[in-house]
Amino acid sequence: MKFRAIKGVQDILPPDVYVWQEVESAARQVFAPFGYKEIRTPVMEFTEVFTRSIGETTDIVEKEMYTFNDRAGRSITLRPEGTAPVVRAYVENHLYRLPSPQKYYYIGPMFRYERPQRGRFRQFHQIGVEAFGEDDPRMDAEVLDMLRRFLERVGVEDLGFEINSIGCDACRPAYREAMVDFLSGRVDTLCTDCRRRYEVNPLRVLDCKAKGCSAMKEEAPRIIDYLCSDCRGHFEALRGHLESLGIPYRVNPGMVRGLDYYTRTTFEVTTESLGAQSAVAAGGRYDRLVEEFGGPAVPGIGFAIGMERLTMLIRDRHGVEEPAPSVYLAVIGADAEAAAYKLASEMRGSGIWAELDYSGASLRSQFKRADRLRAAYVFILGEDELARGAVRYKRLSDGLQGEIDMDDAVRFLSSQ
Ligand code: ATP
Ligand code: MG
Repeated sequence: MKFRAIKGVQDILPPDVYVWQEVESAARQVFAPFGYKEIRTPVMEFTEVFTRSIGETTDIVEKEMYTFNDRAGRSITLRPEGTAPVVRAYVENHLYRLPSPQKYYYIGPMFRYERPQRGRFRQFHQIGVEAFGEDDPRMDAEVLDMLRRFLERVGVEDLGFEINSIGCDACRPAYREAMVDFLSGRVDTLCTDCRRRYEVNPLRVLDCKAKGCSAMKEEAPRIIDYLCSDCRGHFEALRGHLESLGIPYRVNPGMVRGLDYYTRTTFEVTTESLGAQSAVAAGGRYDRLVEEFGGPAVPGIGFAIGMERLTMLIRDRHGVEEPAPSVYLAVIGADAEAAAYKLASEMRGSGIWAELDYSGASLRSQFKRADRLRAAYVFILGEDELARGAVRYKRLSDGLQGEIDMDDAVRFLSSQ
């Protein structure tokens, strides 16, 4: 073989691609009544768009970005996530001048240089949403409600919602101090990354997947115990709204997320069925990010769904339903072949999936092919049928046979 795909990327082929299409159209359908519009941002941005927002001491920025200099020497990065580009676009295009809240969704590839494994790739895909301009906790619950309804629509409604609050600039200093205190006595058990960064950003230790660091989570001070009264009130109100909407959730005080821009609410949707890669979707509030990008003080909240993990779950549970042709045109003789060729064009123009082959194979092997394609009907065209202006049909599911006028063929199939 001459060429192979790059490690950690994959081709999405039929029949899998049908699951992807289904998921994408479910997202569009579920998000629209919540007022979300699609936004498409470039797959590459200036590197600072990510370093400044995601945070210099995060795994993504420290070791996972695809960064290169373009021919003019500017540092460019393939987007590792969708929020920073959407916020960049929101500010650059003055979308904050539009009536608030503004709600956007995106669907597309993301790039992270991670160790490839089941459910973890270097090019992966996310469906994400961002809602700008509302800091009321009802918006947080609304976003979670939409995510729940989406998961219901694609048939994985039993996943667990975990929520937490990681506070704001007012709550962080005291917590940071408590964490640094706690961690400085345990530096030996930290991984080398966390040893380096725990003083700058102790939250990172809680998001670290290294054994020693994650073992610490149980005893570590919990940010939720350090919330200022505003953040505590916000979180309590969110819980109330989730309860009133009937959204089951669990508070996970250890869940802090791997991106620095989050404030207050963070959440994850997890499953046991995917092994170590358990997070199917994740998100949170980012009330300072628009301002950090040079925009006005506009709060935001969003989430991203990992499409590889989600489609894997759907495939495991429901299998893949591959579409099949409505009709296979089986022909005997050159005149019938010519007539079928034209008929197929007419059918396809009317949106009917019609198959036929150009090999001049025997009727028997044409039937075999129709079977393999799982065609609903075989239409048989021979000299006799042609002379009568008719086609004989056979329904493959039950062997039902009959004859119709050739002129009625399209109508016949359309009504099935
Ligand atoms: P994880 O904890 O599994 O590394 P994450 O916190 O880095 O996930 P986010 O940045 O929050 O993930 O992205 C949201 C979702 O995107 C994740 O919940 C996951 O489903 C998916 N995702 C993230 N990284 C990858 C990847 N490398 N390959 C496939 N899916 C991914
Ligand atoms: Mg990650």
